[in-house]
Amino acid sequence: MKRRFNSISDKIWLLIDLGLHMILSLGFAYIFYKQTGLISWAILCIIGGVFIDIDHFMDYYKTFGIRFILNRFLYELGVNARKFYVIFHSWELIFILWLISGKVQWCVPLATGMTLHLIVDQIIHHLSEPLFYFVLYRWFHGFEKKRLEPGH
Ligand SMILES: [Zn+2]
Repeated sequence: MKRRFNSISDKIWLLIDLGLHMILSLGFAYIFYKQTGLISWAILCIIGGVFIDIDHFMDYYKTFGIRFILNRFLYELGVNARKFYVIFHSWELIFILWLISGKVQWCVPLATGMTLHLIVDQIIHHLSEPLFYFVLYRWFHGFEKKRLEPGH
């Protein structure tokens, strides 16, 4: 059976996904701002929590080429991409940020946003693939969707 893209359930899942990323990031951004008085900390939390998804653009261009079509980006990329790089979706990167955050304090809001983002993505998109968001694991599997999401 041909997979229908952009169905009602796809849209609902996209809204849940984006909504959770926004609510959590804005909530923690507000807390950081209240605690530190620094708007930069709030912005870094939102960058880590929402704009981390910018790495999907790289996967899009590798899959569909330079012509950008929003519906393809939102609904078809996860199905059609042969490889998943999503380089910022990486527990290793987050671990490093937390490690250096003792010395480089602005890593705290960035790492917080990214941690919240990956927890949500893990639960919504890859609950049955617990290692998916380890970039070394994806690299070990050649970033290939077939090997990373065998059940899909
Ligand atoms: Zn994401």
